[in-house]
Amino acid sequence: MNPLLASDAGLAYDSAMETARTIADVRRAVAAARGAGKRIHLVPTMGALHEGHRSLLRAARADGRLVVASIFVNPTQFGPGEDFERYPRPVEADLDICGQDGVDVVFLPSVAEMYPPDGRTTVHVAGLTKRLCGAHRPGHFDGVTTVVLKLFNIVQPDAAYFGQKDGQQVAVIRRMVADLDVPTEIVVCPTVRDTDGVALSSRNAYLEPDQRRRARCLIEALRLGEAMIRDGERRPDTITRAIRARIEATGGCTIDYIEAVDLATLEPAAWIDRPCMLAGAIRIGSTRLIDNVVVDVSDGGG
Ligand code: AMP
Repeated sequence: MNPLLASDAGLAYDSAMETARTIADVRRAVAAARGAGKRIHLVPTMGALHEGHRSLLRAARADGRLVVASIFVNPTQFGPGEDFERYPRPVEADLDICGQDGVDVVFLPSVAEMYPPDGRTTVHVAGLTKRLCGAHRPGHFDGVTTVVLKLFNIVQPDAAYFGQKDGQQVAVIRRMVADLDVPTEIVVCPTVRDTDGVALSSRNAYLEPDQRRRARCLIEALRLGEAMIRDGERRPDTITRAIRARIEATGGCTIDYIEAVDLATLEPAAWIDRPCMLAGAIRIGSTRLIDNVVVDVSDGGG
């Protein structure tokens, strides 16, 4: 028994953490809780859990809901030559973390369980998915939206938790949920960072020590852009040029993109006069890192 859960009042179902490997099993586990009147909160992940994921698990747990964490390295969101094969899969450590953070049900499906060979349907959000990471990872967001909608249909969560770290993913999923009338609340949690500011990411494990030091330049440059906006700069080109220059000065990194975009539509900002996201992706060696900062000039800054 998980003592955290056992202390929950009024649970009418077994509160030990369950590991479900099939859609039927996770549906069964969730149905019992739903029948007991519990709200269901879903945290979709690809595993290799770190403090960023844990912040989502804890936020989902905070209200005493039934928390389902999915751990699935989704092949359809990786392009040819990307890191699907070498993506870390420390399943035992992930299950320990889920237990510590009060997860009730871990959904750990196989690729065959999620994608039977006769599947023919994908979910495509137009427009937003062409920009930023979408321009550099063709098909990536179709993989994301398809797997997320499948998880939503499998678990039927009242709320699902995502990290602002993947800012474009948040905008795309919000659009999908609005367009397809998905009855799931999307909760977005702040980016969790290492002490030097670098956003936690499962991919940071790929970095050699020297590369990890260089990785700081992305958030430092984005914060420079944020400071320029707070100091009154409103020209997106001036801001993105300064961000690029800061990254280029570090050396050893290749810029995929640096952009100032509208937070919801991801359209390039013509002028910084509404909430915007300064978003960037860089490559260090063969590792691709992304990050963003959200700046709202209407909140008193700038
Ligand atoms: P992933 O396992 O990379 O697919 O991420 C699963 C979820 O965790 C996504 O909603 C991510 O945005 C979120 N996430 C990943 N890294 C962080 C972080 N450093 N801070 C907050 N959320 C994160």
